Amino acid sequence: MRIEYSYLGKQFENIEEYISDIRGLVKSGEFTLGPYVERFEKMFAEYVGTRFVISTNTGTDALILGLRALGVGPGDEVITVPNSFYATVGAIVAVGARPVFADCDERFQIDAHEIEKVISKKTKAILPVHWTGASPEMDTICSLASKYNLHVIEDACPAVGAKINGKAAGTFGTIGAFSMHPLKPLNVWGDGGMIATDSEEAAKFLSCYRNHGMVDRDNINMWGVNARVQPIQAVVAMRQLKGIEKIIEIRNRNAAHFDEGLSELKEFVRIPTRLKGHREAFQLYIIECDRREELLQYLWKNEIEAKIHYPIPLHLQPPGRELGYKEGDFPNAEAQAKRIVTLPSHQHLSDDQIQFTVDTIKAFYKK
Ligand SMILES: *Cc1c(COP(=O)(O)O)cnc(C)c1O
Repeated sequence: MRIEYSYLGKQFENIEEYISDIRGLVKSGEFTLGPYVERFEKMFAEYVGTRFVISTNTGTDALILGLRALGVGPGDEVITVPNSFYATVGAIVAVGARPVFADCDERFQIDAHEIEKVISKKTKAILPVHWTGASPEMDTICSLASKYNLHVIEDACPAVGAKINGKAAGTFGTIGAFSMHPLKPLNVWGDGGMIATDSEEAAKFLSCYRNHGMVDRDNINMWGVNARVQPIQAVVAMRQLKGIEKIIEIRNRNAAHFDEGLSELKEFVRIPTRLKGHREAFQLYIIECDRREELLQYLWKNEIEAKIHYPIPLHLQPPGRELGYKEGDFPNAEAQAKRIVTLPSHQHLSDDQIQFTVDTIKAFYKK
């Protein structure tokens, strides 16, 4: 039984519906911003529950522009985790600020107590990541931020659909950044990103800055960039958004199946704690495993496309070391990097495929 990691070939079987939406777009000729993008932004704002949504070309742009909107730049420090995707830190560096890492906890999320230890006079913002589509303890992080008068900008790129007690990931801080990369729960036919905010000032800046700083065709009020979402992706996203709750539901069902099935292997496999009131989006289903390299070989031999997100923590990548970091600085992130495994758990897998994966892992440890 082959268990594929990617599901993109299956996801758009109803391609004709998308094509018919796109036909409407092409007839309208609205290829830069315009009514389709506006409709999408309104829909997404309703979905996450913020006053404003400004869509962007990528999730990375959403982070970069979000940092700019908060006035983060040269001389500032931004605190984030060493276990994330490169773009989290790339965005901080792109605005000229210095990334400062705080270790993660056993849930693979930034640890609020570790954040407090590295706050300095230069700290301008905390950038927690909703890593794997789960959420850090946002209330604690937000209290800490207000105690030290810092901004919170959330990297909710993998976490469309995640919630804490009904409140959407990406809506706890001043700014939340989301991605629609093909391997995120809400995905489009290429790239796309969104910034969610309740701040009118930030929203005004962002909608202008992402579009060359233009007030209208003949006037600008700032030097901006072109970071606009492609209307074709907004059209795809609108149809996707209608089905996102179902996708999150199935991913949660698959994750619960794994949690339950693997709970017998406590001796060898560690499942992160699932906090009460947290609904995870399960962009990634990650566990920690003994004899990781051997297990991976065994899974691949059995055609289960398991992966590692990621084998090298960000502070140990060459540009992380250039910041002055070294082995031993973040014991949790480093230990996890050697033990984590991502299992295929997407919405196009059957219960049998999930069970086959569980049985294969059991067979490996009982061998
Ligand atoms: C995917 C991702 C990004 C980047 O999003 P893109 O849309 O690919 O630019 C940033 N941060 C995290 C945590 C991500 O998972």
